[in-house]
Formats: sequence, structure tokens, C-alpha cells
Amino acid sequence: MQTITLLGATGSIGSSTLDVLARHPQRYRLHALTAHESHDKLLALCLEHRPERAVLGSEAGARWLADALREAGCDVEVSWGEAALCEVAAEADTVVAAIVGAAGLQPTLAAVRAGRRVLLANKEALVMSGALFMAEVERCGAVLLPLDSEHNAIFQCLPREHRGGLGRHGITRLLLTASGGPFREFDAAALARVTPEQACAHPNWSMGRKISVDSATLMNKGLELIEACWLFDARPEQIEVVVHPQSVIHSMAAYSDGSVLAQLGNPDMRTPIAHALAWPERIDAGVEALDLFAVARLDFQPPDMQRFPCLRLAREAISAGGTAPAILNAANEVAVEAFLAGRIGFTEIAALVARALEEIESVSADGLETIMAHDRSARRMVQALIDEGAAVTVE
Ligand code: NAD
Ligand code: MG
Repeated sequence: MQTITLLGATGSIGSSTLDVLARHPQRYRLHALTAHESHDKLLALCLEHRPERAVLGSEAGARWLADALREAGCDVEVSWGEAALCEVAAEADTVVAAIVGAAGLQPTLAAVRAGRRVLLANKEALVMSGALFMAEVERCGAVLLPLDSEHNAIFQCLPREHRGGLGRHGITRLLLTASGGPFREFDAAALARVTPEQACAHPNWSMGRKISVDSATLMNKGLELIEACWLFDARPEQIEVVVHPQSVIHSMAAYSDGSVLAQLGNPDMRTPIAHALAWPERIDAGVEALDLFAVARLDFQPPDMQRFPCLRLAREAISAGGTAPAILNAANEVAVEAFLAGRIGFTEIAALVARALEEIESVSADGLETIMAHDRSARRMVQALIDEGAAVTVE
């Protein structure tokens, strides 16, 4: 019986994870469920799944939840805040890191430092602190398994031992597939006018609002490129992004003998979640078998960096190294939030990220303090530009 802490239980990854866990009650027991603000949703999940602990973002939320659980006769220990998140992350055998954004960094690191098995969905944590994060995984003997569908696919296509550089294992390239998002065929003028609702209606995947916007700008693919560099010891130039609108091939690894290994499946996050939960075994994920005759064809195109500059910015940030990826990530989080709130246009997201990368000089990312300081500077700078209503355009 493995105990599980699910960080970000009320989100899209959270709900897919609970679906898989509920199919295997004999293998997994829930230690803790966490959420930020949605205390009513967390109440419903606690009543249904009966974890030992629940954590919310605020004291008021936690009080409300504790009262409601007591009234329902449900015995769950409720706490709140970052320290409690770090505590529950260190306590279970397996931690599913599915908080969105930089807020997930400290609790995910707490799981790593406790030497847990860490199933990583929260790509922003790794993007911000890659070198430090991977050094901690090594030092603390944590087992890091990717939940992001592309990275999970690549993991499945690599030999079991793949650290120490791709070349050592005969791997020449990683092919990261991208759906292209809902605006794949929009021209620049149409892109400038798209709404948050359009951006959140992804053709193949149903996801949280932030990652849906990232997917539409291709920043998600940029963050994933950085994520892949750290997870697989790859150089940025060893990773090629391939637009594949059907989202059936989840990514590929190319070998020196000409072989290309791919992982295919229906676009359903329960597959990578079940894979990582059970690894190295296999369990049922509740996902329908892939019907290749219904899929019929697979298309591939190169990404358009002119219309989707976020992918180029992310590549530049990881090539520059140091705190540049943390600056990119923080600027993007603030810009996406402003876009979702209707305060800026879609194409301004990339322009704001570019400004932050130009104006804040990247330094060596040797400690968490330095990384967090650059995260804060980028947030302040981008927020000020948005508040000033400064007209920003993409060059
Ligand atoms: P979501 O918005 O649906 O859920 C986010 C979860 O994080 C919620 O439970 C929320 O309560 C919690 N949260 C938000 N802010 C928080 C804070 N400040 N402190 C603590 N908890 C907080 O997001 P999602 O789509 O489930 O994505 C979660 C993560 O997984 C993201 O990093 C995303 O990039 C990654 N991911 C998601 C998918 C997907 O299909 N949804 C696929 C691959 C990777
Ligand atoms: Mg992905």
C-alpha cells in the first residue's frame, strides 16, 4: 500500500489523478489533499476520498473546512499555508505535484528533500530552479517521474538509465510534439483579438486556465522544452518541437541508428498519471484503447516562431541559463493572469515576457534566494507595465 499526497487536488490534474487512484484502492491510500481557495470543492473531495490530512491556502478557508468536516462526521486533520503544504509533501511515499505555477516550488522541493517518489506535473517549479532542483533529486535520492504527457512519453521511449547526456546512450534528438493550440492557423491580426474564452477552449485537452493560455501562446511548449533539458540531461539544441495537431503521438526519441521511438495514446492525462503511479509496473487508467482507424492520419509541421514568439523566448532563456528561465516564467505568469482578467491582449503576453528578459539581467542561479529574487523582480516589472497600461507590441 503506497500513501499519496496530492498537491493541487482540485485542479484538472488533481481530478484525473483521483480518478486513477479510485480504480486501485488496494494499491494506494490518500495521505493528503490540498487546494488553494476552492474550499467547497476540497470539502467534497475529502468526503468522497477520505484523506488523513487536507491543506488550504488561508486560515479562514481551513476553519470553514474543519467545521464542515466535523459536522459531516469526517475525521480529517485540516491545516493551511505553505509550511503545511511542505509538511504533507514530505510525509507520503508518493507526491503528485500538481499545483500550478511558482507556488508549487517549495512544496515540490520539500517532497524531493524528503527523498519521496515525486510525480511532476508542476513544470514551472522545474523551469525556475532546474539545476538546483535536479541536484536535490540526486542528493536526496528522490525518484522523479514526469507526468507532463510529452515528458512521460519521452521517459517511456528512453532506456531505463539515461542520465549523463543523451549522446552516451545513442540518443541524437528528442522530438517534443505540440498540438499547436486553438490558434494554430490564426494570422497575426486575428491573434491580437482572441479572447480568454477562446484561449481556454483547447481542441484536444481539457486543462486549467493558465496552462490553456500557455498552450495557445506556445509558451507551454517553451516551458516543456526547458523541462525536458533538465529531466533528460539534454542541450536545448537536441530538442526539436514538432507541431502535431492530432495529439496522438505524445513525443519521441531519435537514436543514432535511425530509429525513432514514439509513445502514442488517446489525449487523456490519466495515461501518464497511471504510468508514473505504477512505474515500473502497468495499471488500468480507465482510458479507451487507441483506435488508429478512427485517427486515420498523423500530421506534422514546424512551429511558427513569428506568430508564436513565446517558444523562441523560452529557447533563448534556457540557452542563456542562470535565472533567465525564472524571469521568463514569472513574467509569463503575471502576463497570463492579466490576459485572463481582460487587462491585456493575447499578443502582449509575449511582448511583456520579452521586456522582462531584456531588462532584467540573468545571473547564475546558484541558490533559491537568487532565483526567488529574480522571480519577484520580473513580477514587479511586468505588473508595473500592465498597471501603467504601457502599449507593448511584439517586435
Ligand atoms: P488547475 O488550475 O486546474 O489546478 C491548479 C491546482 O493548484 C488547484 O488545485 C489549485 O487549488 C492549486 N493552486 C493554485 N494556486 C495555488 C497556490 N498559490 N498555492 C497552492 N495551491 C494552488 O491546473 P492544472 O491544469 O491541473 O495544472 C496543474 C499543473 O500541472 C500546472 O503546472 C500545469 O502546467 C501542469 N500540467 C497540467 C496538464 C493538464 O492537462 N491540465 C498537463 C501537463 C501539465
Ligand atoms: Mg504537456
